Amino acid sequence: MSTPAHDESLKPNNFLRAIIERDLEAWGQLQDARRFAGSPGDAAHHAAGPLDPARIRTRFPPEPNGYLHIGHAKSICLNFGLARDYGGICHLRFDDTNPEKEEQEYVDAIKEMVAWLGWSWDAGGSSHLFQASDYFDFMYRAAEYLISAGLAYVDEQTPEQMRVNRGDFGTPGTNSPFRDRSPEENLLRFREMRDGKHPDGAMVLRAKIDMASPNINLRDPALYRIRRATHHNTGDTWCIYPMYTYAHPIEDALERITHSICTLEFEDQRPFYDWLLGHLADGGLLARPLPHQYEFGRLNLSYVVTSKRKLRQLVEEGHVSGWDDPRMPTLVGMRRRGYTPESIRNMVDSTGVTKQNAWIDYSVLDGYLRADLEGKAARAMAVIEPIKLKLTNWAEVFGSDAHREPCSAPAHPQLPELGQRSFSLGPEVWIEQEDFMEVPVKGYHRLYPGNKARLKYGYVIECSGCEKDAAGQVTAVLAKIVPDTKSGTPGADAVKVKGVITWVGAHEGVAAEVRLYDRLFTVPQPGTSDADFLSEINPQSCRVVQSWLEPSLAGASTDSRYQFERHGYFIADRKDHSADKPVFNKITGLKDGWGSK
Ligand code: ATP
Ligand code: MG
Repeated sequence: MSTPAHDESLKPNNFLRAIIERDLEAWGQLQDARRFAGSPGDAAHHAAGPLDPARIRTRFPPEPNGYLHIGHAKSICLNFGLARDYGGICHLRFDDTNPEKEEQEYVDAIKEMVAWLGWSWDAGGSSHLFQASDYFDFMYRAAEYLISAGLAYVDEQTPEQMRVNRGDFGTPGTNSPFRDRSPEENLLRFREMRDGKHPDGAMVLRAKIDMASPNINLRDPALYRIRRATHHNTGDTWCIYPMYTYAHPIEDALERITHSICTLEFEDQRPFYDWLLGHLADGGLLARPLPHQYEFGRLNLSYVVTSKRKLRQLVEEGHVSGWDDPRMPTLVGMRRRGYTPESIRNMVDSTGVTKQNAWIDYSVLDGYLRADLEGKAARAMAVIEPIKLKLTNWAEVFGSDAHREPCSAPAHPQLPELGQRSFSLGPEVWIEQEDFMEVPVKGYHRLYPGNKARLKYGYVIECSGCEKDAAGQVTAVLAKIVPDTKSGTPGADAVKVKGVITWVGAHEGVAAEVRLYDRLFTVPQPGTSDADFLSEINPQSCRVVQSWLEPSLAGASTDSRYQFERHGYFIADRKDHSADKPVFNKITGLKDGWGSK
């Protein structure tokens, strides 16, 4: 797999680039400072290693408790992209320190999606795929060190007492009665916690910082809790697990991350990040220089939600068919819908990196999709909402109703190397229902009695009327071939028409189920008002129609995308499509329909 090239034209303002460039310049004089032993480890491990060949190290650290969504794509492209651009290496690290919600299924899906987006964690001949649970031994050792140094204590207050004693924005916290225990006593208790001598929730290990700090995150944050849960990697080895805020900085430091990039909500955690790593480095446990945390604004896409909790609710309550429902903003859903990795990368790159949480309009993503597919998607004709058109003078013009008139068209108008597609015209074809109006509105150029239009790549026809059922519904449109007007022949221009109609021969059309998707939510920023986000679901977000496709689509594969002429971009559904029972998803239309709907 090759790393995607960086498109300079997409380079938006990005304060992280400025920071990295500044750091690289400063480190130029300190070449000896950063060693890397080839694998994650403590200070002694790295001290024995060579200078780090990576100029910077970044990481994408998902928690394997759900599927990745478009917001994660931002973080992935940012971290892997910065590493690529500055001669660095980006680690894929599973932040799997919370056993209850994490599963191997998610680990596998996350790896698949990072690779699908075009990134690789293999660099310089080795893999940089790590899991935080491999560091549990070190985290435990570091906790014992903090206890011995008088920087951590075991607190036996109830969760409720702890909550009350933490205070709030206006009120300083109150010290726990257990805060001044001796290191020896704390060590004893902590080992009892580890050895399963106490029930879940009976006590926690806390950092000893400052219960009066204006930053609530520094009011003696919890480091370890007792939780009898089986971990997907470490099984039942542990009954105590580190808290995220404790584990994450340590993971970064063991891996020699230089720039630890996270979203804005972690800004208030940075002082603790620095406190913790500083003390562990002072104690000789972690190598210097230490990683630094930088925060950027989350990416939100209009008309979708990007919170794992809400996405899970949509799946579990059956509002969508699964994590990979083509309306979901998960990467598995977007892949199934037909979005290309290029369009997603370009969209997130174009949005830049700022200190604000940004809402990006969905049309920006569709714009990049069209830009990507316009130049490469093979064309095909499809009649999405069909009605029969009968060419009543067929036998007269061609001698027999059994005659088939061969037609052809380029697979792509600008790419002759893709060749020609062949299909044929017969006495009955499928056309779109909207291409006939018994009584035309002003400016309508397609079929109405007495009007002429062209069957694309075929003949000019003249509409003579329609057939109706007992209820007055139009059941078929009637027209006559105008002889000698076939496209590509000298007579083609003899009759001027304003309307061009796409069609599929009834004798050879491929029946297909086509799924037409609309936005999943009716409001641009679902879940941000007082209303329950579920009440903002668009009940018409999926319409399934029975359509007819030109024969070249019979063998469509689930990784080729097509432009159905005049309708938009489509892909065969990777789950439900088969040659016997074709199923296509609409990815997006040819023009931006979002604003005008
Ligand atoms: P969610 O809030 O949806 O549960 P998360 O942040 O809890 O997502 P993680 O698995 O912890 O999920 O995320 C991995 C990384 O992706 C983190 O560094 C996180 O900051 C980043 N990330 C998650 N959502 C977004 C987003 N909308 N925009 C940018 N980065 C994001
Ligand atoms: Mg998170």
